[in-house]
Amino acid sequence: MMTHRELFLKNVAQTSDFPLSLEIDQANGIYMYGKDGKEYMDLISGIGVSNVGHRHPKVTQAIHNQVDKYLHLMVYGEYVQTPQTLLAEALVKTLDNGCRKYPVLNNVYFTNSGTEAVEGAMKLAKRYTGRQEIISCVNAYHGATQGALSLSGSENFKRNYRPLLPEIKQIRHGHFDDIEKITCRTAAVFIEVIAGEAGVRIPEYEYFVELRKQCDLTGTLLIIDEIQTGFGRTGTFWAFQQFGFYPDVLLCAKGMGGGMPIGAFIANQEVMSVFKNNPILGHITTFGGHPVSCAASLATLKVIFEENLLENVNVKAQIFKDLLIHKKVKEVRNQGLMMAVEFEDFETLKPIIDRAIGRGIITDWFLFCDNSMRIAPPLIITDEEIVKACKVILSAIN
Ligand code: PMP
Repeated sequence: MMTHRELFLKNVAQTSDFPLSLEIDQANGIYMYGKDGKEYMDLISGIGVSNVGHRHPKVTQAIHNQVDKYLHLMVYGEYVQTPQTLLAEALVKTLDNGCRKYPVLNNVYFTNSGTEAVEGAMKLAKRYTGRQEIISCVNAYHGATQGALSLSGSENFKRNYRPLLPEIKQIRHGHFDDIEKITCRTAAVFIEVIAGEAGVRIPEYEYFVELRKQCDLTGTLLIIDEIQTGFGRTGTFWAFQQFGFYPDVLLCAKGMGGGMPIGAFIANQEVMSVFKNNPILGHITTFGGHPVSCAASLATLKVIFEENLLENVNVKAQIFKDLLIHKKVKEVRNQGLMMAVEFEDFETLKPIIDRAIGRGIITDWFLFCDNSMRIAPPLIITDEEIVKACKVILSAIN
């Protein structure tokens, strides 16, 4: 008889020849447990998802409650579904920052994933502005479908899938000189606040202020991808709230579902209303905003505020920074608990990650930055657990 691992490699489509192939039996809080009973500390939150930990009891309770009421009822946008309605209200509240200069983000379109939020927002930008050009950043990751891939900042990932969308231009994240490439021909700029897959690159505070000015000047929508940074990852509920500007459209997913699949693009109602006509049903999804995912997401949002998870994000990040000192560590970049620990090169980093996994600590590298270790633990990680994790990482370096 074949083992599950062998069946996984045989029947489940693979995207590399070296999947981690861990077989997890259960996950709880910041821990995952292998079939063999081995305990792993999840320091990457399943790549930016388990911000409130795995199977937070309030999230699983909300899921159970909703499962007992209804699952899928109807395609998107037709029925009044309480989980969607309450979640949209709660999300909109997080975005009411008293900013009156810019139209408030008060209208939520729910999707199944981050990529779909990106796709929907690309259509929204084209339709609202009547323009075709879209600008994204070098080394950005916004998803792998053909629209989102067109925005990708990596030629390596795009090369063999052309033709992709035309009229996509790229600027360098955080570079003031490139801002003038945004013109009256540009429908939208898609940009992360912190460039995640580029290896946690943090722009100067003034950068987004200037970007916002140029978008205002040219009538370009400023579309912020908070798929990795949202739901508390960087110490505020949304990362843009630390950078003195307000976006036109916000994208979220990943941590939003507390472990369930969901995403959203959020805009002002006047912008979003273009989907209602010419033609009607301008954007369609069957499962977007699934009631169980919405219930889980609302519970996740409440946990973040009720358990004051934002409060200690920077204190916890600082513990990592204070402890991860080693001659082989060249730099630690972070915005809250979105962290990158830089080593000389991939050849130095890879065995460290492998040894740490062997010792029960899961980290990773970045899609477009393979000399840096990804650390993005659940926000519920305790100070003691951070100390324990850092000891293992340091032991894995040596
Ligand atoms: N944007 C960013 C910044 C991301 O990090 C990701 C996922 N890594 C996506 C978009 C795509 O999200 P998803 O995988 O949920 O489709």
